[in-house]
Amino acid sequence: MILVLSQGITREEKERLLETLRAEGNLIKEIQGEEETILGVVGKIRKDLGYYESLPGVAKAIPISSPYKLVSRQLHPAPSTIKIGEVAIGGDRLVVIAGPCGVEDRQRTLEIAWMVRKYGAVLFRGGAFKPRTSPYSFQGLGEEGLKILKEVREETGLGVVTEMTSPSQADLMVKYVDVIQIGARNMQNFELLKCVGRIGKPVLLKRGLAATIEEWLMSAEYILSEGNDQVILCERGIRTFEPYTRNTLDLTAVPIIKKLTHLPIIVDPSHATGLRDKVSPMARAAVAAGADGLIIEVHTDPDKALSDGPQSLYPGQFEQLMRDLYVIGPVVGKQLDYAYLEKARMIRRLHEPGAAPAQAAYRGVPGSWSHKACQQFFGGDMPLKECSSFREVFDLVDRGQAAFGVLPLENSLTGSFHENYDLLLDYDLQIVGEVTLRIKHNLIGHPGAALEGIERIYSHPQVFQQCKEFVASHPRWDHIACRNTAACVARIKENKDPKEAAIAGEEAAELHQLAVLKEGIEMNPRNFTRFVVISKNSALPGEKNKSSLIFSVGDHPGALVAPLQVFAANNINLVKLESRPRPDRPWEYLFYVDVELDMLAAENRSLLEQLREKTEFFKYLGSYQKGGAAASEAVIGEKGTTSAG
Ligand code: PEP
Ligand code: MN
Repeated sequence: MILVLSQGITREEKERLLETLRAEGNLIKEIQGEEETILGVVGKIRKDLGYYESLPGVAKAIPISSPYKLVSRQLHPAPSTIKIGEVAIGGDRLVVIAGPCGVEDRQRTLEIAWMVRKYGAVLFRGGAFKPRTSPYSFQGLGEEGLKILKEVREETGLGVVTEMTSPSQADLMVKYVDVIQIGARNMQNFELLKCVGRIGKPVLLKRGLAATIEEWLMSAEYILSEGNDQVILCERGIRTFEPYTRNTLDLTAVPIIKKLTHLPIIVDPSHATGLRDKVSPMARAAVAAGADGLIIEVHTDPDKALSDGPQSLYPGQFEQLMRDLYVIGPVVGKQLDYAYLEKARMIRRLHEPGAAPAQAAYRGVPGSWSHKACQQFFGGDMPLKECSSFREVFDLVDRGQAAFGVLPLENSLTGSFHENYDLLLDYDLQIVGEVTLRIKHNLIGHPGAALEGIERIYSHPQVFQQCKEFVASHPRWDHIACRNTAACVARIKENKDPKEAAIAGEEAAELHQLAVLKEGIEMNPRNFTRFVVISKNSALPGEKNKSSLIFSVGDHPGALVAPLQVFAANNINLVKLESRPRPDRPWEYLFYVDVELDMLAAENRSLLEQLREKTEFFKYLGSYQKGGAAASEAVIGEKGTTSAG
């Protein structure tokens, strides 16, 4: 049962209420929502709802219709993220867990760990207690294997995931591992579930070989009911009549789980297929279906692996898969971040005395695209500072009041955000990072409102442009411009007028509990916005492979060719060239240039000098790692390979 508390509940009333509920033997979970506080009350509810509604401080009592309570979305509407050190599963960034099926020997395990880390895995997997179908197969190294996993964590910084097969291993798990895996064969081993519930470490709960989704969620409920909320579900294929693959991957489970529970879900395409060449296609499909991450078996010499070699990827295949996920991520609103762990460490260092205030400034409010860009770039651990204008973002970074600023610079349908280019000219700050978001706009209105009843729509002027065709098809609507999309949604929420709607991203609708009246109304679904991260002097980790420049040239024949020849002669790829009138000098132009190169690398410094000589005005804006590729930047080829275009 869910109890919605009255707005004006006093402390005494709340304490008395909790006492009454506990005395009945219920488990109580308090959830602070945006607008109200609710209590999840789980137990044998003995009285009717009317009784609970009559208790002082209770506004409403709602039954939870499903047999699982603590894991249900009804009780906990916002998605949960599970933290494993600096890794968050369930947030805006894809999490890939990789490693061998079983821990074999120290050297091999470390070799695999460094390899998967290099290609973007952020957690390491490897079994030390292997539940094998045959008692004669490799059973794992036991504690010896756990010691090797601990060494992997210490050497590579990767958190480790391993399977626990018996409650007798509890102390070892506490001592050595970061995430405890409950394997498919043990999904309904209730003593084991209760045990990991009490241990309190994050649990990766695999779906049983023949378990229904409801049975799987009931198993998760066992763990939560012991007080451990940190459960990650893992779809790993189920037994069907099809013998071609080891199991049948039930990808439908992903959207179903997303609807039924707040817990994150990852997919294991290795055990689901059992066939190496089927792993990558199913991994890509899992991400497209909305999975929060993947767990994949990878080995440096799969042919010699002691278990599950035939389904383990070769390093090159894993590298390729990660490149594909890097491209697919933004299409479904997520990012694969190659500098995930390094960034997390950098954010931690910012909290040390003497560092610039550890916050990133952005223009907008939660639910806006800029807010999403911040979360996708930095993850959830970076404190964010809302600003009301782009200039304010620049000011805060310039004055050292924010270590970073996040700004939209270019949209694939409507072009540059010139205001930000002008501000980049005015301020002496550097571009240090980039992140690309797919922008999917929706018409958002009040729940139950119909499209036909809308009279007035709110959005940002650029967004009206991006949805030009849809907007033009409703000529009678009034258009009201707002500073950012999330603010528009907040406004219609406040106005409570079903005749009003706003154009914004899905997150804004979720945040304000409004409804999507029409999805995907942008002119072209290939609508991407490139955001840049600016800073005064805080560097970001990651390989730098792109630089931005602004220059102007004199008014004589061949003036523009001269600097461009520097790029051509040095075989440098130009990825952007745009001219724009100089705000201070009529009929003179500035050229904005992006190149695929780290211009500050020692071997390229002379290029900066050559460019300065060949231009009248020259400003170097910074070098950074190219952000999550947009579909236009890379394509997935026939064999599932990615090529930069
Ligand atoms: C494993 O992850 O190595 C494993 C044994 O998985 P499952 O329990 O899904 O078969
Ligand atoms: Mn395995």
